[in-house]
Amino acid sequence: MTNPRKNHERRADMTNNALMRLNRVTRTYHMGEVTVNALKETTLDVYQGEILVILGPSGSGKSTLLNIMGGMDLPTTGEVFFDKHNLGLANDNQLTSYRRNEIGFVFQFYNLIPDLTARENVELAADLVDGPLAVADVLRDVDLADRMDHFPSQMSGGEQQRVSIARAAVKNPRLLLCDEPTGALDYQTGKLILALLVQINRDRGSTVVIVTHNTPIGDMAHRVIRMRDGAIAEIRENASPLSPERIEW
Ligand code: ADP
Ligand code: MG
Repeated sequence: MTNPRKNHERRADMTNNALMRLNRVTRTYHMGEVTVNALKETTLDVYQGEILVILGPSGSGKSTLLNIMGGMDLPTTGEVFFDKHNLGLANDNQLTSYRRNEIGFVFQFYNLIPDLTARENVELAADLVDGPLAVADVLRDVDLADRMDHFPSQMSGGEQQRVSIARAAVKNPRLLLCDEPTGALDYQTGKLILALLVQINRDRGSTVVIVTHNTPIGDMAHRVIRMRDGAIAEIRENASPLSPERIEW
């Protein structure tokens, strides 16, 4: 499983293959008299097939960066390319289509629709895209086959997060963006959630970006970015990513 040579070849291969390219991207918020530079000039490639973990303290710009990647927010300046398409030139319909078809989003607090069951939450996402995976298969993959007809209020936090991963995965997105996916979960449950993200990366080839303030989670990534004060302070490659079961925090 952890054949170092294979890992190395895989990374070498990845660097030739940027799924997403951010070129001198900034994001500024204006709050009355105050200007917040949430993201300072940032240039970054996200490689096809990698697991990229973005670390940094609260307020360092992690969510801002992730939302720009997902087409949920637009940069103030700079360019964002997905598979060579310039998102800055996309109209509203094209941006909606990008978010629907290419991106799966996993949030800290799940964002499930409360009056839909687990199955219905996942079906709703599947119905939005061409060629979704089979809903029942994806729910089984996240080990929720026997919870399909439960409502979010009838499920634990870990189960709800598994539904939300199924909802993202059913679209078979090229890019899975996760904002503090373990932030509301206990330690063991968090590890199971991270293991599911690794499984999707491995089995479906989705590129996975995970934002967290939890430094040890970086050990499971192919590459780790550390953000500080709205800028990338460090990018590090992991020669041998650990399986989430072996991470301790
Ligand atoms: P992180 O996810 O690392 O905690 P964020 O990307 O959410 O950080 O925020 C970066 C900075 O931008 C913070 O100072 C935050 O207060 C500010 N910010 C984020 N979103 C907004 C917004 N909608 N309006 C004004 N300021 C914002
Ligand atoms: Mg955040």
